Amino acid sequence: MQHLIRYLRSFLRVLRGLPANLAPLDGMTVGPDDLAIARHYLDKQNEWYDPDIVASYEIAFASWNESLAAVAFMGGRVALSACIYALGLKKGDTALIPGYTCIVVPNAFHFEGIRVVYVDIETETYGLDIGDLRRKYAAHPEAKALALQHLFGLVCRDYEAILAFAAARQLPVIEDCSHATGARFRGRRIGNGGALAFYSSEQSKVFNTGNGGMAVTNDTQLAARLRAYRDQAPYPDAERTRKLLRTFVYNYYTQSHSLRWLCWPFWWLWYRHERLVSTTAGELAGQKPAHYGQKMPAPLAAIGLNQLAKLDAVNARRRQQAARWDQWCMEKGFQKPLVISESEPVFLRYPVMVDPEMKHNTRWAAEMGIELGVWFLTHTHPAPCEVADCPAADKAVAQCINLPTGA
Ligand SMILES: *Cc1c(COP(=O)(O)O)cnc(C)c1O
Repeated sequence: MQHLIRYLRSFLRVLRGLPANLAPLDGMTVGPDDLAIARHYLDKQNEWYDPDIVASYEIAFASWNESLAAVAFMGGRVALSACIYALGLKKGDTALIPGYTCIVVPNAFHFEGIRVVYVDIETETYGLDIGDLRRKYAAHPEAKALALQHLFGLVCRDYEAILAFAAARQLPVIEDCSHATGARFRGRRIGNGGALAFYSSEQSKVFNTGNGGMAVTNDTQLAARLRAYRDQAPYPDAERTRKLLRTFVYNYYTQSHSLRWLCWPFWWLWYRHERLVSTTAGELAGQKPAHYGQKMPAPLAAIGLNQLAKLDAVNARRRQQAARWDQWCMEKGFQKPLVISESEPVFLRYPVMVDPEMKHNTRWAAEMGIELGVWFLTHTHPAPCEVADCPAADKAVAQCINLPTGA
């Protein structure tokens, strides 16, 4: 029903002479060149498990990201699991993580029996709040690791303070860079400030291999541990690899193609049995899926190489679009997100705090010609959960909307 209404609305827009497509949140980095790579590999199953392409992708990413080593996996969440393994965290350990994040982050810890303590965020960049970090650490001095985040592509406000705090206590930091691939602080790519970092190339992120992720480090021993985790990890089997590629093609037609407003029901009918979702219902409920923990096969690495070559240009366009949203905020009286001094964000999405009514009744956005993002609707999006003692995160759940930056 919802789909039918959406479909009819596109026709109404066209009749009113408005642009047929809403400015999309996802998929804008995928072009015909990426589609051609996916198509090539769909015909060439004998090339799916060629490790050389994956090695080239890892080397290219490490060099682009100015890191010592990068190791590719089937998701940012799996890259996080590799980071947890690399640090040697054990069942019963405690980790401090953001109280406003994606469910796959706490899951990665819970899958290993590690307890998480949620740290509140600030609502200028949606990163960890240094004040609350001090409080939570004082209450949990047994914590063995800390995850910080750069949400929406912004470099988090307390980045330096958090790194200094953790370094003084020899608390290893994992940076969640899944929204912020390519962002810089003091001229250097983010993700190089802590022990380890992970990145995502899931279809809703700044670059796109359908699903995919990368773990990086600048420490030789941690790099060896990440590689050991990868070496024991299986590839997605042939059926799943084919579905990953078919899903990539489907996403192109429904998110990037200029006729998507008209044709998406047909593509949906055509591809629906092969479409994979990034997070299964079981995973949302905290169960580890059978396919969890896989490494990246060659076709996605080949797409990743192509995406990486375009990423700086794409991110520059996102910054231009963000400047237009700055203007909009000024006109409407909304607070702009904070770009901290000496940082270059990548603006995966442009976050704004509005009143709750505007977050939940989103007709106004379609009238403006945009898809509206609602990250996050719960503290551990999109699963319902109890996160105690994080008032700023409560506020963001109620009030944060995200505007698209794909030109
Ligand atoms: C998307 C996301 C991840 C994980 O990325 P996947 O590649 O989907 O596993 C982690 N943290 C945050 C905040 C995210 O939005």
